Amino acid sequence: MDRLIDQISQVKRPLLGEDIPILVFRAFRVFVGLHGMDIMGEKGMTALIQNAGRELGKELGETLKHEDLDKYLMRVIDFVRDAKIGLLVPVEVNQERMVLQLDECITCSGMPNIGKKICQFEVGIVAGLVESYLHKRVKAYETKCNANGDNICEVNVELNNF
Ligand SMILES: [Zn+2]
Repeated sequence: MDRLIDQISQVKRPLLGEDIPILVFRAFRVFVGLHGMDIMGEKGMTALIQNAGRELGKELGETLKHEDLDKYLMRVIDFVRDAKIGLLVPVEVNQERMVLQLDECITCSGMPNIGKKICQFEVGIVAGLVESYLHKRVKAYETKCNANGDNICEVNVELNNF
């Protein structure tokens, strides 16, 4: 069977086309995320959204794969920019961890401080992309978010935590 990413790539909208306002994406993402917490609790909903992003990240990783880490990162950075997800900047990359910042984040950039980090989906995508390269599970979490009063979105990936 086709991967899920291949299936949802099949768009038939001859009049409306493939582009949507960013507000539509954010409304879906953030309303589902925040109101899902009422049903599943904060931990459950965070895990659900992050795991969904993780599976997407793994599928993307297969598409972008390159054995050289620097080249793989370049491909990921180009993809994230071309897909207008954000401007990905590796801040720290070593044997223990990766710290990646996402400027102009699709989900949180420009948002006021609502006292919550809301980019669990992006965290999951990053985790999946890293796992696709390393072939092992990693721990990832959001360390900065525009919706939490920071001026950037930042994901921390611990490479040896599992
Ligand atoms: Zn963000």
